[in-house]
Amino acid sequence: MNFNLSDEQKMIYEYGQSLAKDFDRKYWSECAERKAFPTEMYQKVADDGFVGIMVPEAYGGSGLGMFEMVLFQEGLSNMGIPLLSLVVGATMSLSPIGDHGTEEQKQKYLPAGCTGDLRFCFAITEPDAGTNTMKTSTMIKATGNGGYRLNGRKTFITDAKESDYMLVVTRNKSLDEVERKTDGFTIVIVDTKAKGVEMHPIDVSIPMPECQYQVFFDDVEIGSENILGEVGRGFDILFESLNPERIILAAVCTGIGRYAMDQAVAYANERVVFKGPIGAYQALQHPLAKGKTEIELASLMTRKAAWLFDQKLPCAAEANMAKYAGAEASMHAIDASLQCFGGNGFTKEYGIFDLYPMARLLKTAPLNSEMVLNYIGEHVMGLPRSY
Ligand SMILES: Cc1cc2nc3c(=O)[nH]c(=O)nc-3n(C[C@H](O)[C@H](O)[C@H](O)COP(=O)(O)OP(=O)(O)OC[C@H]3O[C@@H](n4cnc5c(N)ncnc54)[C@H](O)[C@@H]3O)c2cc1C
Repeated sequence: MNFNLSDEQKMIYEYGQSLAKDFDRKYWSECAERKAFPTEMYQKVADDGFVGIMVPEAYGGSGLGMFEMVLFQEGLSNMGIPLLSLVVGATMSLSPIGDHGTEEQKQKYLPAGCTGDLRFCFAITEPDAGTNTMKTSTMIKATGNGGYRLNGRKTFITDAKESDYMLVVTRNKSLDEVERKTDGFTIVIVDTKAKGVEMHPIDVSIPMPECQYQVFFDDVEIGSENILGEVGRGFDILFESLNPERIILAAVCTGIGRYAMDQAVAYANERVVFKGPIGAYQALQHPLAKGKTEIELASLMTRKAAWLFDQKLPCAAEANMAKYAGAEASMHAIDASLQCFGGNGFTKEYGIFDLYPMARLLKTAPLNSEMVLNYIGEHVMGLPRSY
């Protein structure tokens, strides 16, 4: 692994700085306040070639790897403008279509996804299954004419209404019909405007532009052209997308943490209440230095996981450690930053307290820290499973 970034990688890392000239934290916060999809910002990112960062060039993408995706996401989050829609849409949807789609599906979805003309979301969570994906009960049933009918419900689906298509994790065989619990899964590409798809917003108390929805499927007609990969083999596709999601969200965490640190350092160097700047007080300086150290350590593991992924080497241990470390580090960094700001930290104007909920979310979703630690305990260290 080379610790020096190439000129292209530096440019990708610094892209957030140039994007923030047009779409800064203030723009992002206004979208969050209105719960409005940041359309102009998303379009600019698409026009600049970053929505399709990992999509092959032959399908309109930039053909780059996970390492570049991490640099890009870190760079955006460093500026306090994390775009979770890009994690869900670009990585969780475009990458599996690129890897497992038919030629027809690739032609239909990838170029338009890269230009921002089509947007995607990813639906796995169900109210009754939660963390235990094996209990997925959203089902497709063959109709006998080569098609299927989809029934079930999903919850907390980010950008469901703002997206054109949804990748839905379904079962074609229920848990009690299969030999191995990972059998009988099928990933379906669903038109969000299709007959039988209904959505209800969920009011989530996190300042961010993305909205969440409960989604109901009532006899939605599915053609064979909507099946991604093979019927019954969907878990393999799902499994492949778990590490990328963890790695990218770890990058978002470290970026948010850096943003909090940068704001605190600028403030603590200026603010004087006794005889010198408050940044000189070690009671403030040490938690900041500790936060900075934790952020950079998490970033290092995130980049290692991304590098391993790009080399097609096993990266699950590193991806899980990066996700855990990133979520913890960003929480500590924001807390240390908030303390520097005193009362101002809680105001909308300074917006430091507003960073908490998103960083805290990333300890719970998409995979909670307990499951991440379970993975490390069981699969990396060889400890017994408890659940
Ligand atoms: C803002 C937001 C956006 C989201 N976006 C999406 C999306 O776009 N698509 C999507 O599919 N989902 C999405 N989710 C759902 C999210 O991934 C789930 O909420 C998360 O995976 C946890 O599932 P759950 O809420 O059912 O919690 P539960 O499964 O009920 O778990 C509750 C808690 O129990 C603990 N726990 C559970 N199992 C274990 C175990 N084996 N060992 C130890 N502790 C355990 C954990 O602490 C966990 O937090 C989103 C959620 C939020 C809040």
